[in-house]
Amino acid sequence: MTVDNARTFQVGDRVRVRPRLAIPIKPHQVAACLSPFLYPGEIIQCDVSADSESAAFVVRLEPHQFERVWDLEQNFYADELHRHDCDCSECGLS
Ligand SMILES: [Zn+2]
Repeated sequence: MTVDNARTFQVGDRVRVRPRLAIPIKPHQVAACLSPFLYPGEIIQCDVSADSESAAFVVRLEPHQFERVWDLEQNFYADELHRHDCDCSECGLS
């Protein structure tokens, strides 16, 4: 992902991402895990520095009717973001 590509994402854009989950594995222990599914959200913060290719975005995940199993706002890199209308093979699978 180049900086130019990263700049095409802006605050307010609707995207789809794989939320980071905290899976309980023992009564007092959780394991970090990346969701196998893409979930919709909105970019609420953009941090693209000119001299870095690691643009960081804060995405607020859309509410869900059931109790959610992830933090509502999470950080993602540009190459983890899919546009809401993305039709890549990864999006087609979810
Ligand atoms: Zn996609």
